[in-house]
Amino acid sequence: MSKLFLVPTPIGNLGDITIRALEVLGSVDFILAEDTREAAKLLRHHGIKSPLRSHHMFNEHRTVDGVCSRIMKGERAALISDAGTPGISDPGYLLVKHCIKNNIPVETLPGPTALIPALVNSGLPCDRFCFEGFIPSKRGRNKRMEALENETRTMIFYESPFRLVKTLEEMAERFGSEREASVSRELSKIYEENVRGTLTFLADHFRDKPPKGELVIVVAGKKIHH
Ligand code: SAM
Repeated sequence: MSKLFLVPTPIGNLGDITIRALEVLGSVDFILAEDTREAAKLLRHHGIKSPLRSHHMFNEHRTVDGVCSRIMKGERAALISDAGTPGISDPGYLLVKHCIKNNIPVETLPGPTALIPALVNSGLPCDRFCFEGFIPSKRGRNKRMEALENETRTMIFYESPFRLVKTLEEMAERFGSEREASVSRELSKIYEENVRGTLTFLADHFRDKPPKGELVIVVAGKKIHH
């Protein structure tokens, strides 16, 4: 039965894969993976033998039609990314869009993603939030920051450890140095760390102690004055 599954994989801790994710990966005709070597390790670990095909941002425009036509002929495919949920700052969107256009059923399994634990762990309001992914490092950076100056929802950003301090400093300038925020590093891994405080405090903290690994920045929204 034709179908595309999007299957979340662990963001660090190998235990974070659902029983259903393993069942789906084991039962599909082929698995599309961002990095087939990394994916092969994960699949081997779980004794899964479904064939792997490469699918990443540099070839997805070329391969998407071929993938859709295989599924339309009756095959079942799964898409995984290097970590977390496909489509979230990772390839996925293009394939989902093409499948929907071709009336192919799409099913995304719930599972690991870095933004949700970072948000919930931040201690900042999680009733309303917006996910901003990676802010551009050059062109469009100022515009994006400016557009967020009046944002009242909690904001979530992905950032590289090399740009963290610069980004926190710019945010302190834009949103105010006393704005509350949180940085979650190495979520679900041995050296997981969550640091909370004002944007200035966090910039100072990570200037003194340059961060390593992967991280998420969560920033409180602008206070609404009634
Ligand atoms: N698809 C992934 C997801 O669902 O979260 C995101 C992929 S994106 C290419 C990678 C970014 O996600 C990292 O630069 C970091 O900002 C964040 N990230 C991924 N794993 C993380 C972890 N274990 N701890 C903190 N941040 C993480």
